[in-house]
Amino acid sequence: MKGAPVESGTAGTSTEVNGAAGAAGASVEEPIEVLNPATGEPIATVAVDSPQAVAETVARVRANQADWEAMGIEGRYHWLGKLRDWLLDNQDRVLDTMQLETGKVRADASNEPAYLADLINFYGTRASKFIGEESVRPHSALLASKKLRIQYRPHPVVGIISPWNFPLILALGDAIPAMQAGAAVVIKPSEFTPLGLAEVVNAWKREIGGPDVLDCVQGLSETGGALVDAVDFIQFTGSDRTGRKVMARAAETLTPVSLELGGKDPMIVLSDADLDRAANAAAWGGMMNSGQICMSVERIYVEEPAYDDFVAKLTAEVGRLRQGADDAANPKDVGAMTSPRQTAIVADHVDDALASGARALIGGKRVEGPGDYFEPTVLVDVDHSMKVMREETFGPVVGVMKVNDSEEALRLANDSRYGLSGSVFGERERAERVARRVECGAINVNDVLVNYFASDVPMGGWKQSGIGCRHGEPGIKKYCRSESLVITRFAGKREPTWYPYTRGRRGLVGRLVQLLNARDLKRRLGIRGS
Ligand code: NAD
Repeated sequence: MKGAPVESGTAGTSTEVNGAAGAAGASVEEPIEVLNPATGEPIATVAVDSPQAVAETVARVRANQADWEAMGIEGRYHWLGKLRDWLLDNQDRVLDTMQLETGKVRADASNEPAYLADLINFYGTRASKFIGEESVRPHSALLASKKLRIQYRPHPVVGIISPWNFPLILALGDAIPAMQAGAAVVIKPSEFTPLGLAEVVNAWKREIGGPDVLDCVQGLSETGGALVDAVDFIQFTGSDRTGRKVMARAAETLTPVSLELGGKDPMIVLSDADLDRAANAAAWGGMMNSGQICMSVERIYVEEPAYDDFVAKLTAEVGRLRQGADDAANPKDVGAMTSPRQTAIVADHVDDALASGARALIGGKRVEGPGDYFEPTVLVDVDHSMKVMREETFGPVVGVMKVNDSEEALRLANDSRYGLSGSVFGERERAERVARRVECGAINVNDVLVNYFASDVPMGGWKQSGIGCRHGEPGIKKYCRSESLVITRFAGKREPTWYPYTRGRRGLVGRLVQLLNARDLKRRLGIRGS
């Protein structure tokens, strides 16, 4: 959607949003009808951008990228700082739109602007350290006359394809380090949640007056595929099923990708855990955002002595949760499911478990409309033959299993094709020892989900949960290409290795390398190192 004002309609009032499709290369795709999941009512119609429109958008921001890069780290931080201030000053407006299109409760939605503001400052103040030019000491005396430097130059245009569960965090949260690195960015948000992102992008253009290096395009797989074709780097967040397709498409143009995919996060509860904290954490980590988080607690392994108490406390805590559409006067804890497709998957996993002998201690079914809700659900008597313990459920459902000891908990936690993140609760040192053996990209000890807000450390999936990571130094460096500079500081008219190959010079380098590297010579000369 380029240049189109986006106004989110109030519930029940459908707003037409024009994309670029009408202007250039009309798409054959139907416009997207955006629904409010909390009520089921249509709130907006969004025109789909054709492949041609996508290519034109990418070409336009590409033309402005060199000036953006030339601003330097401080100059870019100046503009991103304006975006931070706009997000904080316009929180209510942003949160209203996001609640409308996702059905989230306000408390869950409010994480998004807060996270983005923090991330802008994080990368703005650390970019020099992470991607500033590096000076490297030559490893060999043969390079003594050389000055070695590494400079980091951005991939000119980064394409971001994002999912619906956190429409701003998972789009702008990747745009921020890419832009801070000097790239121009084009984002394709999910077709379920196109409005909030378009609102911020329009504010960047019109209210903030930011350089024309940030845009978004709207659509489904055709638009996403066209974006992959047009850009220099793809940051994809979504299911591993789509991630495979994106990677295969990117392979056709040898475009590098970073993939943040699904998860099936385990939580291990040791017998010496604070069971109140563990149960409260499991309830929040499993039900927050209606369980629609890649890092949601989905499966829980509890050591036998703690099992009964933990399950009782967890069930009580989940039983206290209030579900529904909330407002300022009537806050709720658990909101709607954002995508009807996902609600069907959640129902399928729960039905499969119940049919195979699991019991729902609380919840277990879809809530009657209006709106799309699934009851917060705690399942016991589950095992790894059931989908709910193996496949990503992505809904407000946790399965709890009793285990004999931490070894069995670890074996089951690691018995997954996913490896995104996880958590271990218990006496700190013991829990830490167990945590180090969980096969995943990030693990929390005595907490859940919090690693996502620790931007200092990388967050990325192992196994089929992804390739690459966000956050920390790698989270910005991935948007750059390194260029090594080997600069001659002093030199004669020719190097000993150049022509002519006289008898004396022939083999000179070989003899010098041997002198400097051969083990026995090194030992004899008292040089340390292997
Ligand atoms: P999805 O894979 O269905 O869609 C993701 C995005 O890809 C959407 O914008 C969609 O329009 C686009 N898309 C679909 N087909 C495409 C194609 N062929 N080419 C290019 N783009 C295409 O995922 P979803 O249902 O929107 O999101 C839920 C998934 O996202 C879950 O699996 C969840 O775990 C994952 N997720 C991962 C993280 C993470 O950081 N690892 C974070 C949030 C969500």
